[in-house]
This record gives sequence, structure tokens and C-alpha cells, in this order.
Amino acid sequence: MNKSDKNSAVRAEELEKINLYSRKKLSEQEVYTFSINLCDNDIDRDGECFSDEALETLAELFVGKTAVLDHMAKSSNQVARTYETQVLEIKGKTNSLGKPYKVLRAKAYMPRNEKNKAFIEEIEAGIKKEVSVSCSARKRTCSICGKQSRSLECGHLPGREYGGKKCYAVLDEISDAYEWSFVAVPAQKNAAVTKNYKKFKGEKMQDIIKSFAEAEADISISGEQAKELYDYIKSLEQKREEAAAYREELCEEIKKLAAVVLPSLADSSAMAIGKMASTAQLLEIKKALKEKAEELMPFTVQLSSEKSSRIFNGRDYNI
Ligand SMILES: [Zn+2]
Repeated sequence: MNKSDKNSAVRAEELEKINLYSRKKLSEQEVYTFSINLCDNDIDRDGECFSDEALETLAELFVGKTAVLDHMAKSSNQVARTYETQVLEIKGKTNSLGKPYKVLRAKAYMPRNEKNKAFIEEIEAGIKKEVSVSCSARKRTCSICGKQSRSLECGHLPGREYGGKKCYAVLDEISDAYEWSFVAVPAQKNAAVTKNYKKFKGEKMQDIIKSFAEAEADISISGEQAKELYDYIKSLEQKREEAAAYREELCEEIKKLAAVVLPSLADSSAMAIGKMASTAQLLEIKKALKEKAEELMPFTVQLSSEKSSRIFNGRDYNI
């Protein structure tokens, strides 16, 4: 966060811009201005980054938008308003993808009044604040498969590694920018971090779910969020079906192994145990039974359901 030049020098044209947003015409002495980096084109802690185009769109969309103390978009939390934005390319600096590093810098103002006094003092004192931006990105391209990140077709998680390649998602086609916020963070946590801001995407599933949990009154969701939510529920349903099928397969295997190892145990009892056990426990039971079965009947334990779960790639044999 840069202090404005002693603030006394709020340029006339800046004041003009500021007064476009102010209900009452503010004088030089009545406004406090500062500049702040909102976001960049580097990969963030969530494994996501904005494309250069997205930064340009964000720069356009953030003009006139407010800054809040946190993402609870209550009007009482509004502390500043953005009146100027710019995408800056930092000469000689590259992002983690090796591309020229770009940052979206905003200028914001707030009235110099009693309410803002403490806050202005904090900025002046250089007390670091983390900034997070809230916006909607229509396109989130997975770096591994090129499909929409976190969709059913993709299945890769940003931040994870696949075949030695780190997965990240490029955010593009920004449809809206809502606000940006100051998030207070412990000083020492921030001290060593040069990239001291976090992107906050309005459309992220955890955020949507969190907003449901925190809702104190009626809330509305955007079409985009509704679509996200639908995809998310669908993916959960699919996972649940897969998990159920897997458990069923495990139970079947346990039943067959139990018939070998513990012939006196009724099938129904083996299945009843299977129903109560967690998947991890089922795997453990299966492993123990299988070891015992192999001891008792070496070479003869062949489970048909195991065979069917192995998929061979025919091309491997074209040597
Ligand atoms: Zn993918």
C-alpha cells in the first residue's frame, strides 16, 4: 500500500474523478487517497491466476467499485471507493509461468472523517492489509486438460501435481467485478510475503456454500452461481454413486473371501459387517481375509469381480 504524496497533493483532475462518485462535492482537504495492488497475473494460493486480458477487464470493471472491510457486503463496511485503475507491467519481473509480471493497481479515496480516522492512520502507518477481490470469471481453463477447471469433464484440482506438472486454472472472461476488501492479517504472516493479497472469486463453491451458511436473511444467487451449484451437486451425486458401487464391490469380495477363510460365517453376517464398516475398514478387512485365504489356498484364490475391475490398454501389446 502506497501512501499518497502526503495527500495534500490530490490533483485537481483526481478530485474531479472522485467527485463523480461523491454525493457531496468534496474538497482536497476532505478526501484521503491511496493506491493499492488488487491482483496480478501470478498463480495464487488457490492455484488460480488471471489472464492478462482478465486483468484489463478487471481494471475497467473496478472503477467506481467500493472497498469493504471484509466481504460482508454491508454498506456500513464500505470504507473506500476506487476512482482509477491501471494494469502495470513490472519491468524485469516475471510471474511463476515465466511471463511478464502484471499487476492491477487501483487508486481509491475515502472521506477524511472521524469514522475513517483510525483506518487512515493504519494506512499511513503502513500496517499491511491483505486485499481480496471479488469477481466472476466465466472461463477457468485447467492447465492440464484445457477444459473448464473444477467441472465434471476436468477432474483436476488446481494446486495438485499431475505427472510432475502442477495444475493451475487460468481465469478469463470476467463478467463482473463486485468489490474488493481489506482483510486484516497478522503482521508477521504478511511481512515475508511479497504477494500479500488473495483473490476471492465470488463464484467459488466454498464461497457460495459459506454465504448460505452465513445468511441471516433471504439471499439471491446469480445464474452463474446456480449453474456452479448444479454442476457441483451433479459431481457429488456421481461421486456418491461411484463410492456406493465401489463399496458394493468390496462387500462382494469380502463375502467370497469369508466363504474361503471362515466358512462357518454366514453370508448375511459378512454383508452386515460390510454395511457398517467404513470404506477404509472394508479395505482392511478384505486385505486380512485375502492374506489368510492365500495362506490356506495358494494360487486358487481368484475373484471374478477383481478381474473385471482391471482395465488393460490394448495398445500396450502392440510391440
Ligand atoms: Zn483438467
